Amino acid sequence: MSMSSSDNQPGPVDSYNLFTADPVLPTAVRREGGNTDLLTAFGAQVGSDEIREWARLANRNVPILHTHDRFGDRIDEVEYHPAYHSMLNLAVEAGIHCMRYEQPAGDGGYVTRNALMGLITQIEMGHGCPTSMTSAALTTLRYQPELAEIWEPLILSRNYEHQLRAPQHKSGVLIGMGMTEKQGGSDVRANTSTAVACNGGGPGGEYRLEGHKWFTSAPMCDAFLILAYAPKGMSCFLVPRVLPDGIRNSLRFMRLKDKLGNRSNASAELEFDDTAAWMVGEEGRGIPTIIEMVHSTRLDVANWGVSLMRQAVAQAGWHVAHRDAFGATLIDKPLMQNVLADLEVEVEAATLMITRLSGAHERMEIDERERTFARLATPVAKYWLTKQSTPVVREAMECVGGNGYVEDSIMPRLYREAPLNAIWEGAGNVIALDIGRAASRNPESVNVFLEELEQSRGKDAALDARLDALRSDFSQPIAEGDARRLVEKMAIAWAATLLVEHGDPVVSDAYFMSRVAGDHGSLFGTLPNSCELGVISRRAVPV
Ligand SMILES: Cc1cc2nc3c(=O)[nH]c(=O)nc-3n(C[C@H](O)[C@H](O)[C@H](O)COP(=O)(O)OP(=O)(O)OC[C@H]3O[C@@H](n4cnc5c(N)ncnc54)[C@H](O)[C@@H]3O)c2cc1C
Repeated sequence: MSMSSSDNQPGPVDSYNLFTADPVLPTAVRREGGNTDLLTAFGAQVGSDEIREWARLANRNVPILHTHDRFGDRIDEVEYHPAYHSMLNLAVEAGIHCMRYEQPAGDGGYVTRNALMGLITQIEMGHGCPTSMTSAALTTLRYQPELAEIWEPLILSRNYEHQLRAPQHKSGVLIGMGMTEKQGGSDVRANTSTAVACNGGGPGGEYRLEGHKWFTSAPMCDAFLILAYAPKGMSCFLVPRVLPDGIRNSLRFMRLKDKLGNRSNASAELEFDDTAAWMVGEEGRGIPTIIEMVHSTRLDVANWGVSLMRQAVAQAGWHVAHRDAFGATLIDKPLMQNVLADLEVEVEAATLMITRLSGAHERMEIDERERTFARLATPVAKYWLTKQSTPVVREAMECVGGNGYVEDSIMPRLYREAPLNAIWEGAGNVIALDIGRAASRNPESVNVFLEELEQSRGKDAALDARLDALRSDFSQPIAEGDARRLVEKMAIAWAATLLVEHGDPVVSDAYFMSRVAGDHGSLFGTLPNSCELGVISRRAVPV
């Protein structure tokens, strides 16, 4: 750790173990069956100065699009800073894109992988996009065994090889996803890209694509799963960058988006021009085929919401523990204690929520109840955790004062990343409406979700009242206009049960006094003064 300088500057938070410094993550991961030894080693590695520097460089030196080579031929390549490749190499070697498949479901591999993802994206979120999509893509690709036979071993490889080559000449690949078009992202049925069969078509058959995609992130992936209309309806296709004969597929990158954040990761507008593609799954069943992938990427996006919050609050904790004002260290000032404690309470609740959800995804292949739980719990977490991260990061930035607004600190980067997770993989309204849809089509998902929460009945009167209210809300069809309010109620009740069962008592008490029974405002620093503000705020300081 850097020491405070004589002029009252706290110095950077550097080289600490992101895993062991977290007050709740190690226990939560152990409870869900994850490998804490591996995470302890990784937490030290990604918390190092070297990797923080890679992250800084990868975001300061944004990707560059090269549409043509010097002879005027199309190449459609994106050039990244070497530091971005270093980040991806680290993630791929750690197996973040493949670990969930390396062990049987229930053995903890997916929980471990999710925690690895949460640690590395505290430092750099942009590279998480391709590893998330690659991990998720395999479940969709397996709908088409002959395609999976070629691509699966390459997805499961821990080699990062960024050069474009035909799959048979590669030792590892990354896979992207293209659904969004200009006409509609949430409403993908509005897509207009079309696919024409080459030789009769059908599942596994070769097609030619025309049309475009408005957002395709990580465009240097080796292949993309995309949606396009075939004669029998919207279908899913695999589109490789390089064809088996070594010729580049005609996938045209028009522009890279000039984005608010996530700047290390390129996001391209692309056009199809007689582009070769292979159908994955049944014709006309594109959305159900690709939705498996979206379900897992939503888990990752929720996880990123938590990782941004944790890193921002750790930065805030470090600063106020090492900065003096008005004759005392800031962390000893009652009002700063309240702000930091309030943030810490939110992050600990979020960490318990994402880790419980991670366990449900771990076990859902072997436990139908966990699958049903995840059906509602995933959109609740995606909605709540991604939305909470923006106000948490903003308030944490303020704790760091003027230094938090300056690029030398990590805070501006965390702040720019935060809103994205609420937009991609389904923006807030779409996610809230998805919960209503799940409730009406799969009422068992409501029963299982409520039953999980009911296990904490009797521990607190205000919580019991919230559980009663939720049951009443679900006893009638959910009006679209009420969907957000309902999701908020679900999230707070779920977080409360997790804290009462597994949280530290002082944190749990503060959550109940403010969020469950209290009048917590929409801003932070409003915990009742009777909470253990000094104790809770110290939990935010990385040691
Ligand atoms: C940096 C970045 C990278 C991306 N990368 C990819 C990628 O790799 N692949 C990909 O396919 N997409 C990608 N996207 C696209 C992203 O998934 C979409 O932007 C997102 O799904 C929203 O779609 P949209 O932009 O068309 O907004 P719209 O669908 O027009 O939605 C606008 C607003 O309307 C709301 N809304 C929509 N329907 C309803 C309704 N029925 N009732 C009430 N409100 C509603 C939404 O919640 C949203 O707030 C990326 C986006 C960004 C910003």
